[in-house]
Amino acid sequence: MNISKSEKITNIATKRGFFFPTAEIYNAISGFWTYGHLGTLMKRKFENLWRDYFLKLNDNFYEIEGSNILPQKVFKASGHLDHFNDPLTECRKCHFRFRADQLIEDELNINAEEYPLEKLDKILKKEKLSCPKCSSQDFQKTKSFNMMFDLKVGSTGTEISYLSPETAQNPFLSFKREYYALRETLPFGLAKIGKAFRNEISPRQGFFRLREFTQAELQIFFNPDKLDEAESWNKIKNYKLQLYLSKNNKITLTSCENANKKLNLPKLYLYYLAKTQQFYLDTLKIPKAKFRLRELSEKERAFYNKIHFDIELDLETLKGWKEVAGIHYRTDYDLEKHQKASGEKLEVLNEGKRFFPHVIELSFGVDRNIWSLLDIFFKEEKERTLFTLPTNLVPVEVAVFPLVNKDNLPKRAIEVYNSLKDKYQTFYDFKGAIGKMYRRMDEIGCPIMLTIDHQTLKNNTVTLREIKTMKQIRINIKKLESTIEQILQGQKLNKFGKYIS
Ligand code: ATP
Repeated sequence: MNISKSEKITNIATKRGFFFPTAEIYNAISGFWTYGHLGTLMKRKFENLWRDYFLKLNDNFYEIEGSNILPQKVFKASGHLDHFNDPLTECRKCHFRFRADQLIEDELNINAEEYPLEKLDKILKKEKLSCPKCSSQDFQKTKSFNMMFDLKVGSTGTEISYLSPETAQNPFLSFKREYYALRETLPFGLAKIGKAFRNEISPRQGFFRLREFTQAELQIFFNPDKLDEAESWNKIKNYKLQLYLSKNNKITLTSCENANKKLNLPKLYLYYLAKTQQFYLDTLKIPKAKFRLRELSEKERAFYNKIHFDIELDLETLKGWKEVAGIHYRTDYDLEKHQKASGEKLEVLNEGKRFFPHVIELSFGVDRNIWSLLDIFFKEEKERTLFTLPTNLVPVEVAVFPLVNKDNLPKRAIEVYNSLKDKYQTFYDFKGAIGKMYRRMDEIGCPIMLTIDHQTLKNNTVTLREIKTMKQIRINIKKLESTIEQILQGQKLNKFGKYIS
């Protein structure tokens, strides 16, 4: 049977413990997934890389943790209550409900995200688009559907609240406390890695569009007079951005300097575009050809975003470029709205001037990035499938096996395993023939496999096998730790000895 790449990855993910539908024994509601043991290890690694990288961009960037349930007033002020809507269409025949813009996008390959409802209805009719479920072309009028999950808090049920649809509100709500706690210094940044909840109309695309997901967001508060200043500008001014501008349909390599002068993009914003691109290309090792920074036109972006680029990756499983993160210049929209609604002063007096700090927001969907990494680093060969993930993201770093389950080999293998497990994410396996154990580790992307055999008992050496080429070298146990360390840092196996096969 011919199955798609997406199904292949999902099959491995569910079988091997990356992720699987939540409550699947009860036929699960779509859009909710549980990370299994491997997925959790990988997700933590992604989050830690993100933390390490983005929080270190400035000494004044910090992480906070806040509530996921927030009162109605917050979302009235932020605009979510009135505007956080998706266009909902219902098939008159089978009553299937779906997003009109997504059907149009899928069928006609155009971005219909911000089209008004009437325009969507017109396109559905004119292009004779069919219900994804029953193929009827008879639809009800498209309506706005608010995507927030509401809750009643407390025993009286009068305190209407919502599950936060983005992590960003916590930093805005914490702004005043943190600004003063951080000695009234700008710029400063508040990051939150946490859950976001959206009642997506028809979560399709498996693991990509979820109803409960994790976002990693950093809100950078700064003095708007300094928008065209970036402390480390000299370090990035010649760096080439892979820009996909709204006016031309191709990626152009543009230095930050040129983007500043010719495209009028401010230096502070460009600095974060450059740093985000470097995160994808250098830290996550995304191939250049699969990465672009897509500018959203005025029509496409939210009205409060003055500049908006999405990070898009070219994903085979989803048939093209898909958004995994966004960089939004939100101006003073949020602080101004929250001051107005709460009556709390959020303007600051800084360097002799009173103003609302402006905000650049870096917003990443963690789960979407996890899926994208699995898509990009999935390989199929004649006898095996593997993930060639960068070593800083692999869930299991080292696997240890005895060649056979006798002759004292398991005992020696467990000794080796015990000597490594505190330092590396290590897995011990003895169930099956060696070839099968290798395949199982290939399938989850484990980069280093060690086999303990009869020679080990004689001369204290083991076989170290590399995932990508399947080549093996013989190495002394004494040198194991330093070799593993270097391989995890990106060194090639042949640096450590002659190949033995
Ligand atoms: P989309 O257009 O795909 O619905 P969005 O533009 O609404 O996404 P943002 O509100 O900018 O997304 O959220 C920031 C990031 O959060 C996105 O770039 C994406 O990675 C992630 N994200 C948003 N919605 C979802 C979802 N339903 N499931 C998983 N991740 C999501």
